[in-house]
Amino acid sequence: MANKVIKTEAEWRAQLTPEQFAVTRKKATERPYTGEYEHTTAPGTYRCVACGQELFASEAKFDSGCGWPSFTAPITGPAVAEETDRAHGMVRTEVLCSRCDSHLGHVFPDGPGPTGLRYCINSVALKLDPRKK
Ligand SMILES: [Zn+2]
Repeated sequence: MANKVIKTEAEWRAQLTPEQFAVTRKKATERPYTGEYEHTTAPGTYRCVACGQELFASEAKFDSGCGWPSFTAPITGPAVAEETDRAHGMVRTEVLCSRCDSHLGHVFPDGPGPTGLRYCINSVALKLDPRKK
């Protein structure tokens, strides 16, 4: 397991754009259908925008129509952490980067096979590392 990345709020604020900071550190949600990667199909690896950890492979990405990039599974189990989120009067499962605790999005049990899961992730929390041909 990679070493944890722990920074102060001021350090994150200096490193991230205001939108990246709001989503990853303050658990904001980008507006649906606006994210950079919603319809991206380029092969590559999606990394955590805050710490660079590999989170999702393009092969696991699918078009869910929900307005955010969606994946059936993380690139490895330990890449993401999950926590119960009771905000906004709902019980959801929050998905976080396991290395820097950045908020990524939520996971829902209504995805396609083989996992049946839909990792609904904010584009702004991700950075696509394109695969070279
Ligand atoms: Zn991270």
